[in-house]
Amino acid sequence: MRKAIYGGSFDPVTLGHLDIIRRAAKMFDVLVVAVLENPNKKTLFTVAERKSHLELVLKDMPNVEVDSFEGLLAEYAKNIGAGFAVRGLRNAVDFASEYQMHLINRKLAEDLETVFLAADEEHISLSSTNVKEVATFGGDIDFMIPLEIKPYITEKYKK
Ligand code: ADP
Repeated sequence: MRKAIYGGSFDPVTLGHLDIIRRAAKMFDVLVVAVLENPNKKTLFTVAERKSHLELVLKDMPNVEVDSFEGLLAEYAKNIGAGFAVRGLRNAVDFASEYQMHLINRKLAEDLETVFLAADEEHISLSSTNVKEVATFGGDIDFMIPLEIKPYITEKYKK
């Protein structure tokens, strides 16, 4: 069985993440979308909130599971028996950091193969950071996020 993991902060999930998930789900028998729990990183949404947003958005994708993990992705992948790590690439900056991460993961888990999917042109400028920046100032975020999660974002910025 080909099992892959797509890890990230997903704070919040964007249409760019969703596109990578849709495409990766076609390539593997099971895709685990895993929220990274990083106690040192300040996030807008808690891990439980981010998981529930992903569950809502991915509910119609039968071979996609949502989970969370703390620590190293390579270790988590080993623990759940995933042989592939999916990463999205938007630009050369992503490539530089993702390539380094891939080299490190190869040392940590030699059987884990990283699979890079190039971002769709429409999603190149989308990031969770940009969503939060625009939302802070009340701008339109509809083209950046799955609409099901918009109320949760709006709620956070309601003052
Ligand atoms: P992190 O906070 O760890 O950078 P993200 O949730 O932002 O995690 O990203 C997780 C993965 O999704 C990374 O491989 C990243 O390059 C990719 N990604 C993020 N935004 C996009 C996008 N708009 N299009 C394609 N891939 C993306």
